[in-house]
Amino acid sequence: MEYRVNLALPAELNRFEEAGLNIAKCFNCGTCTAMCSLTEGERSFPRRMIRYAQLGLEERLLESAEPWLCYYCGECSKTCPREAQPGELMMALRRWLTTKYDFTGLSRRLYLSHAWEAGLLAGVALLVLALFLLPGWLGVPFGFAAITPEAAEHVRLDLFAPRHVIHIADWVLAAFLLVFLGVNAIRMIYYVRRGHRDRQTRLSDWLGQAHQLIVHGVTQKHWRGCEKEERRRWLFHVLLVSGYATMFLLVVVFLGSFQRDDADFHWTALFGYYATATLMGVTLAFMRDRVKKRAEISKYSHVTDWMFLVLLFLTSLSGILLHLARLLDLPWPTYVLYVVHLMIAVPMLVVEVPFGKWLHLVFRPVSEYLTAVAHASESRGVQKATVRVVPATQRP
Ligand code: SF4
Ligand code: SF4
Repeated sequence: MEYRVNLALPAELNRFEEAGLNIAKCFNCGTCTAMCSLTEGERSFPRRMIRYAQLGLEERLLESAEPWLCYYCGECSKTCPREAQPGELMMALRRWLTTKYDFTGLSRRLYLSHAWEAGLLAGVALLVLALFLLPGWLGVPFGFAAITPEAAEHVRLDLFAPRHVIHIADWVLAAFLLVFLGVNAIRMIYYVRRGHRDRQTRLSDWLGQAHQLIVHGVTQKHWRGCEKEERRRWLFHVLLVSGYATMFLLVVVFLGSFQRDDADFHWTALFGYYATATLMGVTLAFMRDRVKKRAEISKYSHVTDWMFLVLLFLTSLSGILLHLARLLDLPWPTYVLYVVHLMIAVPMLVVEVPFGKWLHLVFRPVSEYLTAVAHASESRGVQKATVRVVPATQRP
């Protein structure tokens, strides 16, 4: 196998870290790999990733699942004798790889341009607002145009935002997410499998390890192998995922019961309270960590890290206010808050989830799966191919 050298790669990676990377300082001592409690056999990082980055081996990085196997405990950065910030490099690599997997090019624009990110979010938010301001869709009254004298007296969400219309929109949104997340995951698998082309993988390896996708997607259990402080972050992360998944199910599957006009109790409300409480509590805790900058992961916040937390928090907060306004039978505040809630939630789902930081929810379990499949095939003793690096001066 031959790999071309991209001498501009370190500068390119530097663009994905706002504080700047220090990989040139690394003298390849290996302390970081020795300190990382997640490094073992096939999972040898972060030194190898730094070496690839220093040498400009872009394709080798593209074929590596290792950046997604790191949970950024920061132990390597704390102990590096050269302060080369290997943990931060792994973070920058995850952002860079996300832009490589994304076929639309939007992910790259989001990570490298604040104006693009703000513009896209604002554009989708205005589109949502416009849908509620229009005099109706295809002759069907909807939004502010559907407010009758009765709906101005009492909350009538069934007129303002009919459940069947919103439910169809939810399904369209879910399909949109499925397509983009699926395509990105397939592109990741393609690249990483290219790095494992020296192994003969059997169908039984793929099927036998399929459960890893669910296990790691739900539990992120390897994170628990990190230091004690990381157990707290792991727990918060699991709560966040459970809250987000609960809310997603309520909106996409159970909207018929979840969106109500009356103040009567319904069992879906309990799940709604759980989801809202976990989303707000965990996002607040993570934002506090980023302000205090105590842990390594919180020291260098990229704007996408903040956007991830702020949008989730505002979605939850506007959801609570909307719920209160509905329970108190305040029609106009309910309608306005409904639109505000969607103007935050929809851009987050349409822009940030398929093209931004949220993608790690898919890439991490997939990388664990691919690593397990590679282990399974390697356990049969398949030979590894020889790697030959082609200097830039010898490029065809
Ligand atoms: S990043 Fe630091 S600890 Fe790791 S190999 Fe380089 S110099 Fe050594
Ligand atoms: S941040 Fe933690 S998990 Fe990631 S490479 Fe460094 S020591 Fe390993």
